[in-house]
Amino acid sequence: MKETPKPTLLVALGGNALIRKGEEGTVPQQFKNLAMPIRQIAKLSQDYRIIITHGNGPQVGNLLLQQESCQEVPKLPLEILVAQTQGQIGYMIESTLDSELMDLGIHVKPLISLITYVVVDENDPAFSDPSKPIGPAYKRKKDAPPGQPVRKTAKGFRRVVVSPQPVTIIEKREIKKLINADFIVICCGGGGIPVAREGRAFQGVDAVIDKDLASSKLAEEVGVDIFLIATDVSGVALNYGAPDQKYLRKVTIKEAQQYLSEGHFPAGSMSPKVEAAIQFIRNQGKRAVITSIEEIESAVNGEAGTEITA
Ligand code: ADP
Ligand code: MG
Repeated sequence: MKETPKPTLLVALGGNALIRKGEEGTVPQQFKNLAMPIRQIAKLSQDYRIIITHGNGPQVGNLLLQQESCQEVPKLPLEILVAQTQGQIGYMIESTLDSELMDLGIHVKPLISLITYVVVDENDPAFSDPSKPIGPAYKRKKDAPPGQPVRKTAKGFRRVVVSPQPVTIIEKREIKKLINADFIVICCGGGGIPVAREGRAFQGVDAVIDKDLASSKLAEEVGVDIFLIATDVSGVALNYGAPDQKYLRKVTIKEAQQYLSEGHFPAGSMSPKVEAAIQFIRNQGKRAVITSIEEIESAVNGEAGTEITA
């Protein structure tokens, strides 16, 4: 008898899976933080085919700062720095996953971290409006790197870079083949390496794609069953940060769009998550959940987080 294939779960890990609020973000801190969300994903891999994606905001911004403070070697463009963060974070997730699987007694589980590039449109209006916060948050605007666009975010003043919409994930077929072979696949790191089509070739682009929007595109192109966005809050709230703040357990696409237009979800943080979930559900997706990294398992089981429904 043919075995029914396991459903596919895509977990998009937020920045706090690696660096917690107020932390310096040393490598030992990042490894320590990863254990908790990765343990849950390791357990879930017994019942689901797994894709893991992750952000890179702090890491790519730090690499950029390191570049700018060294005059001795040639400077690397942002697209190469995104590729570097896929390597560094991919390695950290992969090795943590390896230990957590071992701890659970799961000895034969292939995993792979895949350099992924993502097509963007050169005519995307985002190219004239840098919006994606990267690197450290500064208390005062004047402490941020001079001569660069900076925006005030919930975390403080941060440098912003261009962030175009993802059009398609180049390695979607390979990813599908790998999860069908029961590999756990770590991909689309930092939203993917942004590239523009040039005839039949690709050219790297100086930008950082939002990881939630790239993950939504991947979820749609691979056809996952559950698209889960794991961040540092328990879900989507109305009046976030105000005394009458209220977390939502279920929200329809129509309601979510209404709340978006009322300004409940700021650009660069909650808005891309809600938009990513809406796009996935609208494009025939099954389940989309926004939850905290502590509650990944509970949210998969329908017991936590905010579900976006048709
Ligand atoms: P990640 O690294 O996971 O992408 P972000 O900082 O980009 O995290 O987005 C999560 C943040 O969104 C939360 O820490 C919270 O401060 C902020 N946020 C803004 N508006 C809301 C809202 N309406 N509901 C929940 N969180 C919100
Ligand atoms: Mg984010």
